[in-house]
Amino acid sequence: MIVVFLGPPGVGKGTQASRLCQLLAVPHLSTGDMLRQARGAGTPLGRSVAEFLDQGRLVPDEVVVSVVQQRLWQPDCRTGCLFDGFPRTLVQAQALEEMLAAEGHRIDRVLELTLAEDQLVARMLQRAQRENRADDTPDTIQRRLNVYREQTAPLVAHYAAACLLRTVDGGGTPEEVFARITACVGQGIAG
Ligand code: ADP
Repeated sequence: MIVVFLGPPGVGKGTQASRLCQLLAVPHLSTGDMLRQARGAGTPLGRSVAEFLDQGRLVPDEVVVSVVQQRLWQPDCRTGCLFDGFPRTLVQAQALEEMLAAEGHRIDRVLELTLAEDQLVARMLQRAQRENRADDTPDTIQRRLNVYREQTAPLVAHYAAACLLRTVDGGGTPEEVFARITACVGQGIAG
């Protein structure tokens, strides 16, 4: 099963994506994690994306698409995977569709997690204290929200038009949100 998680920064995509991956027994492909890992390891890729990560700007499409393509060639992705933080632009969405089609696959379900902007900001500021993520500063948080609204939110209409989208309320405890998600994915499997 191939699932895409869509949603603004702070909505809890990472937490919910990890849980759903365990349930579906598919690998978790978080482009944010992959890029942060490359930066931490100081690889050429990591050095080339550091500035984008720190400023809360999107890494260029061709860079992210190539990272994802290489990951998709790993054998553990044969039974499916869950994308978290990718695609983030229409160009990335088209590239993903082409990559999957080349292997005879397609996206089964897109889950959009939603939450009011003041709650997103509050969650990210809490996370900043807990995890010390370099891009969880007030200025960068605001930029990431703007980038989401301008460049990623149009994907919602794109996937709705393709009849793949389910929208899930991201409010409440992680358990409450996960129960809503599993209900959606169950519907997907049934029909
Ligand atoms: P969040 O959803 O909280 O913003 P992520 O961990 O998904 O966090 O992403 C962190 C950063 O990594 C982004 O601000 C961006 O710089 C970069 N990034 C991650 N995924 C992509 C992508 N698909 N396209 C471009 N940049 C990306």
